[in-house]
Amino acid sequence: MEGLNTTTILWVRNDLRLRDNQALAYAVSLGRPIVVVFILEEESGDWVIGRASRWWLHYALKDFQQKLKAIGLRLIFKKEKSVEYCLCDLIKSVKAECIVWNRRYDQTGMATDLKVLKKMQSLGVKVETFIGNVLFEPGSILNKSGKPFKVFTPFYNHVRDVVIDKSCLVKTRGLVGYDFSACLEELDSLDLLSGIKFDQDLGSTWDPSIDGGERLLEKFVSDKIRVYSITRDFPAEEGTSRLSPYLHFGQISVRQIYSVLSVLPSSVRDPYYRQIIWREFASTILYFFPEIASLSFKKEFEHFGWKLNEELLNCWREGRTGYPIVDAGMRELRETGWMHNRVRMIVASFLVKDLMMHWIEGARWFWDNLVDADLANNSFGWQWVAGSGLDASPFFRVFNPILQSQKFDPEGLYIKRYIPELRKVPSKWIHAPWIVKDEVIDRRDVGDYPQPIVSHNASRINVLRAYNRMRDLK
Ligand SMILES: Cc1cc2nc3c(=O)[nH]c(=O)nc-3n(C[C@H](O)[C@H](O)[C@H](O)COP(=O)(O)OP(=O)(O)OC[C@H]3O[C@@H](n4cnc5c(N)ncnc54)[C@H](O)[C@@H]3O)c2cc1C
Repeated sequence: MEGLNTTTILWVRNDLRLRDNQALAYAVSLGRPIVVVFILEEESGDWVIGRASRWWLHYALKDFQQKLKAIGLRLIFKKEKSVEYCLCDLIKSVKAECIVWNRRYDQTGMATDLKVLKKMQSLGVKVETFIGNVLFEPGSILNKSGKPFKVFTPFYNHVRDVVIDKSCLVKTRGLVGYDFSACLEELDSLDLLSGIKFDQDLGSTWDPSIDGGERLLEKFVSDKIRVYSITRDFPAEEGTSRLSPYLHFGQISVRQIYSVLSVLPSSVRDPYYRQIIWREFASTILYFFPEIASLSFKKEFEHFGWKLNEELLNCWREGRTGYPIVDAGMRELRETGWMHNRVRMIVASFLVKDLMMHWIEGARWFWDNLVDADLANNSFGWQWVAGSGLDASPFFRVFNPILQSQKFDPEGLYIKRYIPELRKVPSKWIHAPWIVKDEVIDRRDVGDYPQPIVSHNASRINVLRAYNRMRDLK
C-alpha cells in the first residue's frame, strides 16, 4: 500500500525538459512529493561521455535545475558506480514508494534500467516507465515478416504517415516538491567541466538551455524550413536546424518537433521530417544490432587492411590535411563542437578512404568533440560513409574533396570562415590552393597552410584496390 506521506522519485537522464516529459507528467499526477534525481553513471570503455558532451550536459542540467525550481521541484545530483545502490539509498532516505523514468534504448542504458527494475521489484517499490525521446519505440516497427527493417526507404515509407500523439505540457497544479533537510550534492559535485579545455568558448556558439533550443526550432520553422531541401547541403548557410544536441539531451522532444511540423503542408514538412526519421532509423538499428557501435556490420570490413598512422590521424584531427573543405570541417568541430552534415560526410570519407583508417578512429574523435555525440547516429553515420554498415553508401563512391568543395561551398565562404590563412585566396582557387599560380596570390598570404598530405587520385586507386582484394577474399 502506498502511503500518503511517501514520495515519488523521478529519475532523469536524457530527458531534461518539462514539456512532453511523460514520466514527469505521471509523477505530478500522483499528487505526492516528487524528488528529481540525475545520476552521473560512471561508465567504462570506449563510449564514456565525451568532452564536448560533458560541457553541454553541465549547462543543460543547470538550466533544468532552474526550470524545475521555478515549478517548486528540486533536482539533486549523484555520481555513483552503482546506480542501483544509489537509488536504493535515496529510496530509503526520502521514503519513496514509486520510481518513474522515461525509457532509453542503448544497450548499456537498457541493461542498467533492467537491473534497477528487478531490484525495485524485489524491494516492493513500484516502477513506471514511459516512451523516451523517439517517435517510434525501437523494436516496435517491423516489416511484414516481423523482422527489423534494414533499409531506410521502406522504414520511412512504413512510418511516414503514422499519426503520433501530440506533445503534452506537464500540469504543474497540485505539484508538490520534497523538502530536503539532508545535505544536498550540487551540480559541481559531478565535476563535468574539470580538465576540459576548448580552442574557443563553446558558449559563444551555443545556448545549451531549453529556451535556446525552442528559439532555434521557432526560427527554423518560421524562416528556414521552406528552403531546407535547397539549403541543407551548403555549409556556409545556416540551412539546417542545429537541434541535434537539444534532441540528444532531450531538451527538445521529438514529438514537440512532430507537433510543430504536423500543421505544415507535406511539401514543406517532408524533407525535414525525413531527416528526423533517419534518427529514428539509426536508433532502431542500434537497438537490434548493438555491436555496430564498435564493429563493422559487414564483418569483412574488419579485415580490410586499415592503416593506423598517428601522424596523419593528427593532421586530420587538427584540420591540417591540406584539403581546405576537410580542414574547415575539422576546425569547425574543434571551435564549435558541431559540424555540418555534408562536411561530416566529406571528412569521414577522407579519413576512411583517402587515409585508409578504420572508421572507429573517426567515430571516437567525433564522440569526444561533438556536442551532439549520439551513439546511434554517430555509429550509423560513420558506417554509412565507410560502406560497412546496413544500407550504407557503396564503398566505391569515394568523395572527391575538391569537387565536393566546389559544389557545396562554391564561393569558399565556409572555408574562409574556419581557415583564416586562406582568406585572401580567390574563390576559384580556394578548393585546391596548392595549384594556384604564384602570380595569382602572394605565397606569404597563405601562411603555413599545408600542402596536401596525400594525393587524392593516388589514394582513390589504392583504396579501391584494397576493397577489391577484400571482396576477393570474402
Ligand atoms: C560521420 C557522421 C557522424 C554523425 N554523428 C552524429 C552524432 O553523433 N549525433 C547526431 O545527432 N548526428 C550525427 N550525424 C548525423 C547528422 O550529421 C547530424 O544529425 C546533423 O548534422 C545535425 O545537425 P542539425 O540538427 O542541424 O540537422 P537537421 O538537418 O536540422 O536535421 C534535424 C535532425 O534530424 C536528425 N538527423 C539529421 N540528419 C541525420 C542523419 N544523417 N542521421 C541521423 N539523424 C539525422 C538529427 O537529430 C537532426 O538534429 C552524423 C553524420 C555523419 C555522416
